[in-house]
Amino acid sequence: CGAGEPLTEDVKPPPLAGANVMNVIIVAAECAPWSKTGGLGDVAGSLPKALARRGHRVMVVSPRYGNYAEAQDTGVRKRYKVDGQDMEVAYFQAYIDGVDFVFLDCSVFRHMGNNIYGGNQMDILKRMVLFCKAAVEVPWQVPCGGVCYGDGNLVFIANDWHTALLPVYLKAYYRDNGQMIYTRSILVIHNIAHQGRGPVEDFCYVGLPDHYMDLFKLYDPVGGDHFNILAAGLKTADRVVTVSHGYAWELKTSEGGWGLHNIINENDWKFKGIVNGIDTKEWNPEVDVHLTSDGYANYSLETLKTGKAKCKEALQRELGLPVREDVPLIGFIGRLDHQKGVDIIAEAIPWMVGQDLQLVMLGTGRDDLEQMLRQFEGQHRDKIRSWVGFSVKIAHRITAGADVLLMPSRFEPCGLNQLYAMMYGTVPVVHAVGGLRDTVQQFDPFSEAGLGWTFDRAEANRLIHALGNCLLTYREYKASWEGLQRRGMTQDLSWDHAAEKYEQVLVAAKFQW
Ligand code: ADP
Repeated sequence: CGAGEPLTEDVKPPPLAGANVMNVIIVAAECAPWSKTGGLGDVAGSLPKALARRGHRVMVVSPRYGNYAEAQDTGVRKRYKVDGQDMEVAYFQAYIDGVDFVFLDCSVFRHMGNNIYGGNQMDILKRMVLFCKAAVEVPWQVPCGGVCYGDGNLVFIANDWHTALLPVYLKAYYRDNGQMIYTRSILVIHNIAHQGRGPVEDFCYVGLPDHYMDLFKLYDPVGGDHFNILAAGLKTADRVVTVSHGYAWELKTSEGGWGLHNIINENDWKFKGIVNGIDTKEWNPEVDVHLTSDGYANYSLETLKTGKAKCKEALQRELGLPVREDVPLIGFIGRLDHQKGVDIIAEAIPWMVGQDLQLVMLGTGRDDLEQMLRQFEGQHRDKIRSWVGFSVKIAHRITAGADVLLMPSRFEPCGLNQLYAMMYGTVPVVHAVGGLRDTVQQFDPFSEAGLGWTFDRAEANRLIHALGNCLLTYREYKASWEGLQRRGMTQDLSWDHAAEKYEQVLVAAKFQW
C-alpha cells in the first residue's frame, strides 16, 4: 500500500499535480464496491482513483461493514470513548488502483451489514462519532507503504453529515492545540436533506468542550433550537463543495437550503459546485461485466444498434416482458422516497399504460412505495415490471437495455443514473433540477442539439408532456434518436475533469491562512 509503490500500467498518470502534490484522505460512510446505498458510495469509490491519477497520494477511510477480502488487518488497534463507552477500532487496509483504502473495524459497524444507516437516531449518531474520531487519527496511526501520511500537505475530504464532525474534531483536538495547523478540511454536500439533527442535548455525545456548542446550535422556526452536525461542519471546514452548479445555487435559497441556506450564504466565499464524474471502468457498455452473460452484450458507439438491441431483448426476457424491438422500453432506478418522485411516475401510470410502451422500475425504500411498485406490475403484467430490491447487476442491465431513463426527482444534488444512461445510449427524461439541469440539455429538433428531455416542474402532467415528445421522436424520427444517443455516448463524463476541479479546491485550501 501507498508511498513509493508503482501504479499498475493502466492507472499510471502523468504527474499532473506538479508542485501541488497533496496527501488526500477521503472519509465517507460508504464506498463502492464494498458498501453502497447511493451516489455517495460511487463517488467515494471513484474520485480517489482520479485524484491518484493526477499524482496525489490518496486514501479513503470508511467503516468495515463486512469481511472485505482485499483488506488486510494492519494490526493497529486504538480505543475511543463514545458516550462513556470504551470502543476498540481495528484498522484494515488495501492498496488498489493507486489508492490506499483503510477500513475501520468495530462491532458497531460490522453488525450493520448492508443496512449501513440502520438503527435509531442515537445509534447512528454514536457510530458516526466513533467513525470521525477514529478517522482523524488515521494519518498518524496507519502506515501505508510503511509510512504514515502524517500532516504534511494533508487535506481531509469529509462527505455529508456522517463525517461533518471530522473538520470539527480536526480543529478541537489538533489545530486549537497548535498541531496539524496546516492540515485542511473540505466538506462535500451530497444531499443536504440529511443533516444529523437532534435535540440540543445530543451535544453531550460528540465529546467536545462546551464552547463548541454554538457551532452545532441552530434555530428552526418549526422545532426551535436544535443540534445540527452538518451546520457545525459547514462552519468549520476550510472549503465546502457540492456536487453540481445547479444544486450549489439551490442550496443558497430558503426552499433548497433546508434551513442551512443562511450558513451557506455566509460562507459563500469557500463554497463551490463541482459536477460528479463517473467511473468509466465500472459504467462503460464496452467492458461492463454485467453484460457478458444471459444474452446481454457489450457494445460501443460502433456496435450501438446491434448491441443495445441484444441488451433490450435480454432484459425483456429476463424480466418476462413481451420481447419486442419496436416498443420503447422506459427505465427507472433509484431509492423509493419522496425525493426521487416515484409517486409522480405513479400518477402518470394511467397515461403510460394507454401507450404502446414498457416500463421497468428498480428500487428499494419506503414500504408503501415498494408496495405500489408491486401493484403496478400486478395490474399491468404485459407492460410493467417492478424489481423491488438493491441489485447492481440489474441496475447495469436496465441502463443498457432501456431506451429511455426517467428521473422525475423533486430535487437531485447531482444524479448519477442520468450520466450512466447517456454513456449507454439511453436517453434521459428528467425534471430540470440540481445536477439534472446541469447535465441534461433539452433536445432541440431544429438544431438537432441536446441530450434528452427536461420538464420544469415535478408534476405528472409535465412528465407526460416531456415523455410524450420523447416517444414521438423515438417512433418517428430515427435519425434524431440516434443523434441523441450518440451525443450522449461521446461526452467526456469521466472523473478526470472533476478531479482537476477538486484539485483547485485542495490547492486553494492549502494556501488559505
Ligand atoms: P442518490 O445518491 O440520491 O441515491 P444518485 O443518482 O446520485 O442518487 O446515485 C444512485 C446510485 O445508486 C446509482 O449508482 C444507482 O445505480 C444506484 N442505485 C439506486 N437504487 C438502486 C437499486 N435499487 N439497485 C441498484 N443500484 C441502485
